[in-house]
Amino acid sequence: MTKQTHSFQAEVSQLLHLVTHSLYSNKEIFLRELVSNASDACDKLRYEGLNNDALFEGNADLEVRVSFDKDARTLTIADNGIGMSQEEAIAHLGTIAKSGTREFMGKLSGDQKTDAKDQGALIGQFGVGFYSGYIVADRITVESRRAGLKASEGVRWSSTGTGDFEVETITQAERGTKIILHLRDDAEEYLSAWKLKSVINKYSDHISLPIRMRKEEWKEGENDQPGEMVLTDEWETINQANALWARAKKDVTDEQHNEFYKHISHDFEPPLAWSHNRVEGSTEYTQLLYIPSKAPMDLFNRDKKSGLKLYVKRVFIMDDAEALMPSYLRFIKGVVDSADLPLNVSRELLQESRDVKAIREGNTRRVLAVLEDLAKYDKAPVAGDDGVTDATTEGVTDVLSDEDKAKQGKYSQFYAEFGSVLKEGLGEDFANKDKLAKLLRFASTSTDAVTVSFADYKARMKEGQEAIYYITADSLAAAKNSPQLEVFRKKGIEVLLMTDRVDEWALNFVQEFDGTPLQSVAKGAVDLGSLQDEAEKKAAEDAAEAFKPVLAKLKEALKDKADDVRVTTRLVDSPACLVVKDHGMSMQLARMLKQAGQ
Ligand code: ADP
Ligand code: MG
Repeated sequence: MTKQTHSFQAEVSQLLHLVTHSLYSNKEIFLRELVSNASDACDKLRYEGLNNDALFEGNADLEVRVSFDKDARTLTIADNGIGMSQEEAIAHLGTIAKSGTREFMGKLSGDQKTDAKDQGALIGQFGVGFYSGYIVADRITVESRRAGLKASEGVRWSSTGTGDFEVETITQAERGTKIILHLRDDAEEYLSAWKLKSVINKYSDHISLPIRMRKEEWKEGENDQPGEMVLTDEWETINQANALWARAKKDVTDEQHNEFYKHISHDFEPPLAWSHNRVEGSTEYTQLLYIPSKAPMDLFNRDKKSGLKLYVKRVFIMDDAEALMPSYLRFIKGVVDSADLPLNVSRELLQESRDVKAIREGNTRRVLAVLEDLAKYDKAPVAGDDGVTDATTEGVTDVLSDEDKAKQGKYSQFYAEFGSVLKEGLGEDFANKDKLAKLLRFASTSTDAVTVSFADYKARMKEGQEAIYYITADSLAAAKNSPQLEVFRKKGIEVLLMTDRVDEWALNFVQEFDGTPLQSVAKGAVDLGSLQDEAEKKAAEDAAEAFKPVLAKLKEALKDKADDVRVTTRLVDSPACLVVKDHGMSMQLARMLKQAGQ
């Protein structure tokens, strides 16, 4: 192929413009992105090579080499991974495929007010993949050959990052990809081994491949000239080069977790919490699970691929292995490395494997345990108690460790983002229903904050109260203003206010909590049991008698619209209210079904 010129997809041009015109302090993330791509490319080769050994072309030692040339002012990141064919180079380096990047672009165009500096900060957080090279380079040349193709089928891709790119055929003996950055004047600092090492250490230490650089040596100056560091021909490994999840738990720092999480999730914020364990027994595996701090935009898209990365004995097998997590925990990110599964395991086989079932159950237990732990430090403050110390009385003194202090506030943050998905578990995971019920939080007539657990509620129940009362409504205001609550207010009985769309459905699966039945205040005749005094009962009976003729007339007039008309004690100020039959579909659910066209 002779040299051809192609145009970037419009979105790419927009992104490139942004990358090159934002001034910001976080230049160095380009290296993280390019090393991350090199690592992905090696993972892909390892995976394809499982069924086709020839792809390794006799060299299965995969690595990344970082080098620079002071005179040419270039910095090169080379890998011997899968490489790209010409078509792949054109497709992958000329368009935006990555959903994270698209989300990022959406964020920017959504809020025109973001100025260049904030945009820069945003890029720094998101990372925009390959294009971040243009932060430091005014031209990028990519030379690549895909594993398995002939040496003569290599490709050179080159662009200044302004509208067009060129591609031509080259001959390249080694498979893999070289990213050659022609550095801008203000990016000279990356022509230094020390600088490169420190950036790689900071962002890419979790990479399990060896990242190598030429070894430097001190050379004494001759004839009174000062000495200097010179590069040798020997390559040394500058990272730990073992998989982060395979390291001892205590050897992994918070920063390393944050970077690793960003690498696997494409998220730009650090995770809320994580759990790292080696599980032994009949099924052996390592699990490293992260709870994100923010819900993705497509959380409720049930077709969305989600799940964990699966490795078998350190070999990458697949992304989005949904069989490793129940669907209601689809937001969890992380890695499972199995010691038992066969390397050639397919998605179909995963669904049937008993080992996978054990792993899924183990992962579920682990996530719920992390949530329980966070919830312990996040109890709703109630008048006269400071929440945390009270919630953790067993074994925890008034003085919280720094680690425990860091947990405060996290559960409510988690719940605000993922509470609705968690509730799906009530209908999906019967084995863990009780654990899930303990994790639920609601607003109530005592607090607007969604912080009241069933256990909190029970602890505050009035003497003689026999049920946990709740009301479902479209909004907090609607719930609070409901006439159904009048009698409860009058008697000082707390009622849980449920305003999440899924509450109604979810509560079908929770009839009681810890022996106490749940009772909707909008259903049937509310029986307040011993909370209702004799005088009230008598008054109601007398009224029912006296109003008989009126009731009969009302019943007749409403005969197509209401099943029954009754005298009630549940109202204090309002003249009338609608209720549904004891086992009838609630109004909220009826509205939902109507909306859904049923
Ligand atoms: P992402 O890594 O999220 O897919 P990038 O913008 O970083 O997005 O990279 C775009 C695509 O370019 C990659 O998905 C991959 O197909 C290709 N690519 C980038 N770098 C390499 C590389 N070193 N080797 C092989 N393919 C690469
Ligand atoms: Mg990338």
